[in-house]
Order: sequence, then structure tokens, then C-alpha cells
Amino acid sequence: MAVVGGGPSGLAAAYHLARLGYGVEIYEALPEIGGMLRWAITEYRLPVKCCKENSRYSPRSMSRCTPAFRLGQDMAWSELDRFDAVYLATGAWQQRPLNVPGADRLGVLTGLDYLYQVRAGRPPALGARVAVIGGGNTAIDAPHGQAQRCGGRCLL
Ligand SMILES: Cc1cc2nc3c(=O)[nH]c(=O)nc-3n(C[C@H](O)[C@H](O)[C@H](O)COP(=O)(O)OP(=O)(O)OC[C@H]3O[C@@H](n4cnc5c(N)ncnc54)[C@H](O)[C@@H]3O)c2cc1C
Repeated sequence: MAVVGGGPSGLAAAYHLARLGYGVEIYEALPEIGGMLRWAITEYRLPVKCCKENSRYSPRSMSRCTPAFRLGQDMAWSELDRFDAVYLATGAWQQRPLNVPGADRLGVLTGLDYLYQVRAGRPPALGARVAVIGGGNTAIDAPHGQAQRCGGRCLL
């Protein structure tokens, strides 16, 4: 079995398939497995250390994992032909556009892009005043992603 994507879905599938005796190979685009848990959820909610500690429960010992290997870039779809079955677990990284004129201007970041850059150790440079559009969990997490300077105003 080939598992494409090393997030919770891919890892769970790989774990159970390996337990059932299947040979499993995981292909993960990013340098470490964990998916959004590793690359999008902020440090104060889920420390990278915890992700790494939990990886000992990952199926690594029972299956082969190739990180930094993106289907469609490092590997063509035809290369998956040698497997009997393929489990696609690439997640939902596509973000909904805001459809507001100006939303593509310099300095406008989507929540997921911003959180990813912070988790990857490359936080984008922000000015002194930051507007966060939206008030869900990602919006609450975003200021924590960097300097935790979030004592601002909230417009409802
Ligand atoms: C800010 C934030 C907070 C969240 N908080 C919670 C929470 O509190 N509780 C909760 O239950 N859920 C939470 N979620 C949702 C949770 O993270 C996702 O539901 C979960 O990660 C989905 O798992 P997945 O394996 O389907 O996808 P992902 O975690 O997205 O994993 C997909 C993996 O596939 C890889 N991939 C993509 N394309 C390719 C390719 N072409 N080739 C190889 N690999 C590829 C990606 O790099 C990624 O590692 C949160 C999400 C975010 C963004």
C-alpha cells in the first residue's frame, strides 16, 4: 500500500494497515510527518516536542516513510502503479478565497499560510498594527503564533 500524506489520516491508515500485515510506504511532502498538527497548530496548543514524542507511536517501525517527497513534484502518479492500492490523505490545505477586492495585496496573508510560516520557523515580518479578519480558532491562534501581542480591539 502507498499512503500519500503523513498527517493524522495517513498515519492512522498506515498504522492499522501495517498491523494487519500490509507492506506500507508513506510519502510526505513536508520535512516531518504530522500534517497540520505539526505544521499549522500553534506551539502553545501543541508543542512540536509533543508531536515528536508521539511519533514513536507512528507506524515508522512497521512501514517506510519518505519525508520531503511530494506526489506530483518528486514522484509522478505513474510511479504509484507498482502498489496494489493507494490511500490519498493529502488534507485540505486549499484555502477559501475572501473574494474582496484588495485581498491579494502585499501584506495580506491567509491564516493557514501565516501559521505554517511560523511553524516552519520563518515567521513573516509584520508591522506594528495587524488586522485579523475572522474570529474563529485560527484567528485566535494567529497572534499567539508570533509575539503574543494580541491585546487589541475586537470589532463584531
Ligand atoms: C489552526 C488549526 C487548528 C486546528 N485545531 C484542531 C483541533 O483543536 N482539534 C482537531 O481535531 N482538529 C484541529 N484542526 C484540524 C486538524 O488539524 C485536521 O483535521 C487534520 O490535521 C486533518 O488530517 P489529515 O491527515 O486529513 O490532513 P493533514 O493534517 O493536512 O495532513 C495531510 C498531509 O499530506 C501532505 N501532503 C499534501 N499534499 C501532498 C502530496 N502531493 N504529496 C505528499 N504529501 C502531501 C501534507 O504535507 C500533510 O502533511 C486544526 C486545524 C488548524 C489549521
